[in-house]
Amino acid sequence: MKILVINCGSSSIKYQLLDAASENVLAKGLLERIGISGSKLSHRKGEKKYEFEKDIADHTEGLELIIEVLQSEETGVVKNINEIEAVGHRVVHGGERFASSVLIDDEVVSEIEANNFLAPLHNPANIEGIVAAKKILPSVPHIGVFDTAFHQSMPESSYLYAIPYDLYRKYKIRKYGFHGTSHRYVAERAAVMMERPLKELKIITAHIGNGASVAAVKNGRSVDTSMGFTPLEGLVMGTRSGDIDPAIVPFLQEQEGLSAGEVNDLLNKESGMYGLTEGRFSDMRDIEERAMKNEPTCKRAHDIYEYRLAKYIGAYAAAMNGVDAIVFTAGVGENSPYLRANVIDKYLGYLGISIDVEKNKIRGKETMISTTDSKVKVFVIPTNEELVISRDTSRIVKNGLKELKLWEE
Ligand code: ADP
Repeated sequence: MKILVINCGSSSIKYQLLDAASENVLAKGLLERIGISGSKLSHRKGEKKYEFEKDIADHTEGLELIIEVLQSEETGVVKNINEIEAVGHRVVHGGERFASSVLIDDEVVSEIEANNFLAPLHNPANIEGIVAAKKILPSVPHIGVFDTAFHQSMPESSYLYAIPYDLYRKYKIRKYGFHGTSHRYVAERAAVMMERPLKELKIITAHIGNGASVAAVKNGRSVDTSMGFTPLEGLVMGTRSGDIDPAIVPFLQEQEGLSAGEVNDLLNKESGMYGLTEGRFSDMRDIEERAMKNEPTCKRAHDIYEYRLAKYIGAYAAAMNGVDAIVFTAGVGENSPYLRANVIDKYLGYLGISIDVEKNKIRGKETMISTTDSKVKVFVIPTNEELVISRDTSRIVKNGLKELKLWEE
């Protein structure tokens, strides 16, 4: 079965065409600047790379171009569009309604729409992608896989904020968490690498990319995660502040004369590593290179970054009353021996964790990087959200399901 996995942003479509049986990626690409002049499609088929420049007005036109490229003699991997048997959609926010991956029918589309107020930047784009893909591929099943769904297993004690309870009732203000597909994938892989059932393990997964979050996965269920009502909470990120005293928000509004939206932008786009380096860098490679040479601003920013991450790992060891494994994934987590060593060596030795210096040199490859006598195992596991979306899609389609549960009861 060939499955098209798509991830629609407001002006972009990321896609992969996978063969479900072999799990090989047949082709993949990114269409950018939809609805803005200068749209560009970067497409890969095996090692070969192609680029197309053509103005694309909306997601429907964008998907038509992608399908054309997937079918063309030179760049394509299918002879006919009918070879695509299902489409898996990444959807950002499933709210409290979606704790599973689902077959998308009209009712599901309305239910996703009903969550737009929770993710006003992301969900409308995901819906546009679903509507466009259903128009172009009307006779195949479309499956939704949600970024929030895996964290729906959190208990109330993790997800409720200590604000008037009525605000939870009225607006569903609570912790949702994101990167769920990634946390789920790497936790499952860690269990496989440990040759132990996921159901018996306490795993802390650290998805450290430009956006970053940590999750506590106990017995296969997410019991806490650092992102919250929005992706702003938790770790220090590329341009996001992560945790701050909420009283800073009205303070800034009053002192700087900023609107609520402007403070929101400041915390999401001008803070984090970008803010700490006074607007010089948000890319971790630039900061790390300088922090290693003790350049003061970058060193300070990096110290804050790693300290926050270590605090969350410590907190989640407490939340689960123990930890068997820690997993690093995503851009920084997979590629930065410096971050991994600093977090573990400076702060987590008391848990009986030690890193093997040689093994920790690894970048982007599944590896256990702890020493053989480390009480807690530490892994680098490259994430693969598209593969999870493809697997969920294939299982739902093959078994004629409407919903696929993400954890065992
Ligand atoms: P996102 O999907 O959130 O945009 P990624 O998971 O792609 O982000 O991660 C991007 C981050 O990973 C960037 O900050 C980048 O600098 C960092 N990164 C990539 N390669 C390396 C590396 N070799 N060393 C340190 N950081 C790296």
